[in-house]
Amino acid sequence: MSKLLSFLILITLFSACKNADKTDVSSDTSLLIEEAVIEKHLAILSSDEFEGRKPVSKGEELTVNYLKEQLEKSGIAPGNGNSYFQDVPLLEIDGTMSESMIIQTPKKKMNLKQRKDFVIHTQRKQKEIALEDSELVFCGYGIVDEANGWNDYAGLDMKGKTAVVLVNDPGYGSENPDFFKGNTMTYFGRWTYKYEEADRQGADGLILIHETSSAGYPWYVVESSWTGGQQGLDQGPKAKDCGIKGWITLNVAKELFEASGLDLAKQIRAARVKGFAPVPMQSTVSASLTNTFKAENSKNVIGLIKGSEKPDEYVVYTAHWDHLGKAEDLKGDNIYNGALDNASGTATVLAIADAFAKAKEKPKRSTVFLFVTAEEQGLLGSEYYSDNPIYPLAKTVCNLNMDGVNPAGKMKDLTIIGKGHSTMDEIAEEEAKKQGRYVMNESEPEKGFFFRSDQFNFAKKGVPVLYAEGNYEHWDKGVDYVTKFKETYTAERYHQPSDEYDPEVWNMNGMIQDGQLFLNIGWRMTNSNEWPEWYPSSEFKRE
Ligand SMILES: [Zn+2]
Repeated sequence: MSKLLSFLILITLFSACKNADKTDVSSDTSLLIEEAVIEKHLAILSSDEFEGRKPVSKGEELTVNYLKEQLEKSGIAPGNGNSYFQDVPLLEIDGTMSESMIIQTPKKKMNLKQRKDFVIHTQRKQKEIALEDSELVFCGYGIVDEANGWNDYAGLDMKGKTAVVLVNDPGYGSENPDFFKGNTMTYFGRWTYKYEEADRQGADGLILIHETSSAGYPWYVVESSWTGGQQGLDQGPKAKDCGIKGWITLNVAKELFEASGLDLAKQIRAARVKGFAPVPMQSTVSASLTNTFKAENSKNVIGLIKGSEKPDEYVVYTAHWDHLGKAEDLKGDNIYNGALDNASGTATVLAIADAFAKAKEKPKRSTVFLFVTAEEQGLLGSEYYSDNPIYPLAKTVCNLNMDGVNPAGKMKDLTIIGKGHSTMDEIAEEEAKKQGRYVMNESEPEKGFFFRSDQFNFAKKGVPVLYAEGNYEHWDKGVDYVTKFKETYTAERYHQPSDEYDPEVWNMNGMIQDGQLFLNIGWRMTNSNEWPEWYPSSEFKRE
């Protein structure tokens, strides 16, 4: 991009801010995102030297030290006492499944084959674990939503029992936006929720019935995702109440229901109606796992700018620093550079932190810059922070998360992922308008992207969040240009070694625009008395 162009953008941003209120940034020229700053961080973090930033590797060491040095250089204080680091204990569990899963039904004995018919795993640090003649109960969608009088486990003590549940939520396909938000996936539709609910119910086991269209991916994704080593947080041997979790194919489910004297289609219809009662299947399941463990520490990186008036209220920026590392078995370029995912967000939050630190006035509330680890393994760094917050979550005003900042250039839209949860939408919209942009919902809310980046762990604990980017209509090249750009990037680069920073492909104007927006929103929140609120229709609220 030319110098002239970047100059023009600065002017545009400047004039867009002119008429704003006193909390706006126009009076302070240092509160501007600088292209050179983002570009430098982006190029370094995504360089081959950083080896794809895999947790617990040489790449991690380089990355977390780089982040620490940059925070230090900007004059930002350590965020964890006198340290810039928060240790995150990771545990890899590698389970070997029994060859078969035996299901004894009233009519026959079913002998299911591992991988082909079922996959199981455990999140428990336990060498041997088994289901032995555990009673099967069909528990609909496996959802307990007390606020709406919904309980798929009603009247059950799940000790000694294994729940059989459907994927997604009952709203999917209902064409009723007021019923579990219609096709928009609610958290109740995520498998992570179903796992957590089975833990709360104290079930022996949980078996999900895979169905390609509701899940959004085919069986081989289930099979490959749940075999081999699984990363999680090391929460000790007793952490998970439901010992064995797994999946069966739709064909196996049909056979199982029939042999249990039940009609699967009819049961699914019943499960979609409020007041559904769980159905004992008169059948039992047996299967086992032998596990090995590898425990390792990774690190979140954290910096703090203490508030001048309300130091005990916090605005938290997040970006995950990690990516996939190296593929040792790949010939040629085998480094997953993760330029977009998520050197881009990391670089942008660093640039925001630097601008905050240079501001002439100190922000009134405290501002936290948190770079989390192991997002790619299941949002583990942010989960650990939200379980072990350094700053009280009840005093955390909001979380602003950047993951995959737009590389396609300046946009007319601001697409909010998970729009409709809190008044952060309105705050984002007001600030986006000052940039001449409109706000829109994500294009595929049925895919549950809101639950798949780090802001989610804050939302889950009741902290309002914003996860948004320009993603739809290019400022002067329109909608089709962006659609094509994204298609090409996803096909040729997403989660591949070719996700590299390439000045020929990347147009930094988008990162500058979104970086500036996130800076403006954070600056506004640190200088106001606002407490964003959850909408009543959201499944989240302050705890
Ligand atoms: Zn990411």
